[in-house]
Amino acid sequence: MRISEFQRIINEMYSDKDRQRGSAKTFLWFAEEVGELASAIANDDKQNTVEEFADVFAWLVTLANVEGVDLEDAVRKFTEGCPGCGKMECQCDNKLTNVS
Ligand SMILES: [Mg+2]
Ligand SMILES: [Zn+2]
Repeated sequence: MRISEFQRIINEMYSDKDRQRGSAKTFLWFAEEVGELASAIANDDKQNTVEEFADVFAWLVTLANVEGVDLEDAVRKFTEGCPGCGKMECQCDNKLTNVS
């Protein structure tokens, strides 16, 4: 499945409710799911972690729909190399990517 196909499915499923809710409240739902993902990882609960990744992604896609952003287009730059250094294997200074 392409990202654009998933975004279209979510749009068809929820667009009426999403438009009524608006960006600010949709962002709160998204943030809540990010918190649930953090808890699932912290609790080392693999099944719940998988579920929360889905929730976070679905709410991110929903937020993109409300904002009129094509997510597949938005992330395309990463398929052409790291946005920082342009390389397919990132060569950015570790201070920028916080490895250590
Ligand atoms: Mg959740
Ligand atoms: Zn880089």
